[in-house]
Amino acid sequence: LTEPEQRWAAARCRELGIAATLAKPVKRAELQKALLALCTAGPVAPRADAAAAESPAPGRPLRILVTEDNPVNQRMMVRMLEKQGHQVTLAGNGREALEILALNSFDLVLMDLQMPVLDGFEATTAIRQKERDSGTHIPIVALTAHAMKGDREMCLAAGMDAYIPKPVSPAELFRVIE
Ligand code: MN
Repeated sequence: LTEPEQRWAAARCRELGIAATLAKPVKRAELQKALLALCTAGPVAPRADAAAAESPAPGRPLRILVTEDNPVNQRMMVRMLEKQGHQVTLAGNGREALEILALNSFDLVLMDLQMPVLDGFEATTAIRQKERDSGTHIPIVALTAHAMKGDREMCLAAGMDAYIPKPVSPAELFRVIE
């Protein structure tokens, strides 16, 4: 965070290896842009969870509805979960998830946020509305590419139980679903 008169600061910060510089007073949009850029770029940290991915799930097998529109992410999630002995059903968007949920029972829903037709927020809101009549509560875990603070709050406000940032790591996934 630099003072307005420190015009030289940005270049100096870059030299020092500081990832981003914001001039004070910090504007909300600038902060958001900087955070988003940093999150998207993401540090390529060694995967400490690689070993965890190989070990079998200690819990019972779950029936999991994966709601995700991206085919690559779909395959990755299915592989990750089935390897742990879970039973996976796929929905390509929120509307499909609602249709499948109406006819089948699951232990858990993994819910992408950005999807065509019906997004994760809308789908979760609809699921929670229906549950008001039935008195049930299925755990819903949001999967989101956003790492913004507001997203977490929006997820919880929509009725989600937990939140996993993408890319989903096996360790994080299994910590949340157990
Ligand atoms: Mn998506």
